[in-house]
Amino acid sequence: MNGTPHQHAQEVVRLESVRKIYGRSKNQVTALDGVTIGLHRGSFTAVMGPSGSGKSTFLHCAAGLDQPTSGSVLLDGTDLAPLKERELTKLRRERIGFIFQAFNLLPALSVVDNVTLPLRLAGHRPRKAAVDEVIERVGLAGRRNNRPGELSGGQQQRVAIARALITQPAVIFGDEPTGALDTSTAREVLRLLREAVEFGGQTIVMVTHDPVAASHADRVLFLADGRIAGSLERPTADLVAERMTHLGAWGDEPAVSRTGRGRHQ
Ligand code: ADP
Repeated sequence: MNGTPHQHAQEVVRLESVRKIYGRSKNQVTALDGVTIGLHRGSFTAVMGPSGSGKSTFLHCAAGLDQPTSGSVLLDGTDLAPLKERELTKLRRERIGFIFQAFNLLPALSVVDNVTLPLRLAGHRPRKAAVDEVIERVGLAGRRNNRPGELSGGQQQRVAIARALITQPAVIFGDEPTGALDTSTAREVLRLLREAVEFGGQTIVMVTHDPVAASHADRVLFLADGRIAGSLERPTADLVAERMTHLGAWGDEPAVSRTGRGRHQ
């Protein structure tokens, strides 16, 4: 399970025995209960699990937005634990891209200015050719000067993807990136993410509730009660949905009712 140092070198994200406990004494909640996992460069991982299983906590710990109670997180070879808040902010800005369900674009800025914001915040002058390329890649060449309010939901998420890609981050974390989109728009967005992995070598980790969205990933990690309850390589939507049904049952129903249900109804 621990692999060799060489194998670890291929990993952009590594969590080692990560536990996250919220609250104190009687009100303690163990959100992550000893998670060890490595995510390889150029891989597309979906994280699924019932509500409360620890998906957001996993994402926040892996992205350096939250600190584990114990265990370690390595991002592109850097141990996050000793970093000061300023260093973490710099690392997040330069090495991580984020895509959220609610897009999180700045409404007063044009498409171009939204896309180049992370570069400018990091003190870099955006190169026009690189900006044009990324905007073209997400299909928004004709919309460079529009504001987010003038775009559809799918177009806004494509701006967010361009904004995530522009820094050439080690990893992009997505928190339900297709959660606010209709089915066909969601598919377009997922196709773009897939392309970034396949042709750009990008590493992506995405939390989702949607088995169809998860089926675009190379691998699905299933969380239950703060632990990795299994994984699925080359997932199909049907297989993912089936696993999710079982995970839901583990969380909500006693073992006896599981065995007699489903098949004969
Ligand atoms: P998911 O994203 O799968 O719904 P979360 O990671 O949000 O799961 O939550 C895992 C567990 O940790 C849940 O029981 C949740 O109530 C608890 N939790 C999450 N964030 C906090 C917090 N800030 N304070 C206390 N408990 C929390």
